[in-house]
Amino acid sequence: MSDLTAELNTETKEELIKRYQEIEEKIITAADRADRDIEKIKLVAVGKTHPLSRMLFLKEQLTDSKISLTSFGESRVQELLAKEEEFPGKINWHFIGHLQRNKVKYLARLENVTLIHSLDSLRLAREINKRAKKNDRVMETLLQVNIAEDENKYGFMQDEVKEFLQQAEEFSHLKIKGLMTILPHFAEQEKTRPYFQKMKELQAELTAAGFKLPELSMGMTNDYEIAIEEGATILRVGRALFGPRDY
Ligand SMILES: *Cc1c(COP(=O)(O)O)cnc(C)c1O
Repeated sequence: MSDLTAELNTETKEELIKRYQEIEEKIITAADRADRDIEKIKLVAVGKTHPLSRMLFLKEQLTDSKISLTSFGESRVQELLAKEEEFPGKINWHFIGHLQRNKVKYLARLENVTLIHSLDSLRLAREINKRAKKNDRVMETLLQVNIAEDENKYGFMQDEVKEFLQQAEEFSHLKIKGLMTILPHFAEQEKTRPYFQKMKELQAELTAAGFKLPELSMGMTNDYEIAIEEGATILRVGRALFGPRDY
């Protein structure tokens, strides 16, 4: 065990394990229902606002998990860097929030930041490519799509995606592995389904046009089971794993 997890009390540990087991069960059941291979579904544990100790405890518990929790997600660069400093080089990070161009350099120099989910403009792509090149690496990203055409969300509109993908082909140090979306909050879970279906259709359309975009990052605490049924390959779950957030 790492020193950091020693500070957690038994109650917290039990709660984390219980939450994890519930999610594991629900993911397996949803995958079964949709007749999907569980190995094609990756869980990203979104730790934002929660201490690193909880995240590490979870990581230590997962050795015999039936689902694949491969990485931890953060939506703010400062928070990711602070946690990275506490436990350097040991966590596989995904960056999932809106990324400002002046912060790309901090992520590009960390080898263990392995995926940026939130590529949302050509200017950002250019910066990621530049910084990845400086660090002699290829940065993997997903392309964020504003599928619900929500004014409050970042991302490309559906009809802009193809042109962007063509433009992005010139970037030798940036690899786009798939699509990502963040839906607006719906009180009724089922309302998310048509948007997940649209994402899947868009992926199919682009694949038919010759682009390789195997990953679909969609589904959060409120709707990950529906996202699984509709083809998600990466789930980003925070509250259901770590509890409510205090800002
Ligand atoms: C916070 C966050 C999540 C996780 O949300 P929960 O509702 O806590 O599961 C997923 N994706 C992004 C981009 C986020 O910012």
